[in-house]
Amino acid sequence: MAEIIDGKQIAEDVVAKVKGLTADLTAKGHAAPGLAVVIVGEDPASQVYVASKSKKAKECGFHSVQHTLPADTQEADLLKLIASLNADPAIDGILVQLPLPGHIDSGKVIQTIAPEKDVDGFHFVNVGKLGTGELETAFVPCTPAGSMILIERVRGKDLSGLNAVVVGRSNIVGKPMANLLLAANCTVTIAHSRTKDLPALARTADILVAAVGRPEMVKGDWVKPGATVVDVGINRIPAPEKGEGKSRLVGDVAFEEAAKNAGAITPVPGGVGPMTIALLMANTVVSAYLKAGLKRPAF
Ligand code: NAP
Repeated sequence: MAEIIDGKQIAEDVVAKVKGLTADLTAKGHAAPGLAVVIVGEDPASQVYVASKSKKAKECGFHSVQHTLPADTQEADLLKLIASLNADPAIDGILVQLPLPGHIDSGKVIQTIAPEKDVDGFHFVNVGKLGTGELETAFVPCTPAGSMILIERVRGKDLSGLNAVVVGRSNIVGKPMANLLLAANCTVTIAHSRTKDLPALARTADILVAAVGRPEMVKGDWVKPGATVVDVGINRIPAPEKGEGKSRLVGDVAFEEAAKNAGAITPVPGGVGPMTIALLMANTVVSAYLKAGLKRPAF
């Protein structure tokens, strides 16, 4: 059986480091890192995500502010709020919870966030920095950055000579994940819905990352013996065995069968999920350190 990569524990280690860095920063006379989380509308899942981000920020010792705007907020008003957060010296990180209501142009909103406060790493400046290997000043999207830490725990920081296959090419997971693996010297292939013979391609991977959004799509026999498997997917499926109307979370990988071939594998839940929020905290403390002219902390 594969080693089960304990994302919950590793995320706790990251958060502990963030707390230490925050304490060091304030001991040097700087303000605590400030994180502003903005949510528009009442989507229940988004409300839960935002509440847990704000709570974690407080736990880290941050100055944490949450702006909850009604669903009918005008785009211009949201842009005005972001401009004021860009100008606020107490704020180091701005996160706008997605998705936004349909009448608001998400792209425009994201590109309005100052790149040095873009702790989600979605601004073109940060995307460009990651793509060109400017990792010392880039903010990398939290989910792939967290996935990379999980991979490093198994494989170390230099992945020279390893083949990586990333299934999924989204801007928030697949593409930045591929860029991080490339920067760590992997030979990287990005697969997507038009890829031919995905099982055969997946079997070439020493590192296999699934970021698709299809429950248990990656089967056990897609996994090369000894491979490191990172399952980014979060899918809710019916679980009648738990009672009528009940559901459960599964990833994009058929965990039980994949674990028989993999050398190490992330579970769902408890793998990549907890890392995403931990890396949001890490990016925010990094932003505060850079603003203070201090060396960028490494995670
Ligand atoms: P997305 O934007 O929907 O992208 C999905 C990607 O999968 C696309 O590139 C798509 O290809 C590809 N794909 C779809 N069907 C495929 C198939 N049959 N074979 C091969 N590739 C296929 O999704 P996302 O935002 O990247 O998220 C992916 C998953 O990660 C979701 O389950 C999401 O919930 C989860 N997620 C988790 C976290 C976390 O914190 N753990 C964070 C973000 C996302 P095309 O480009 O060709 O359409």
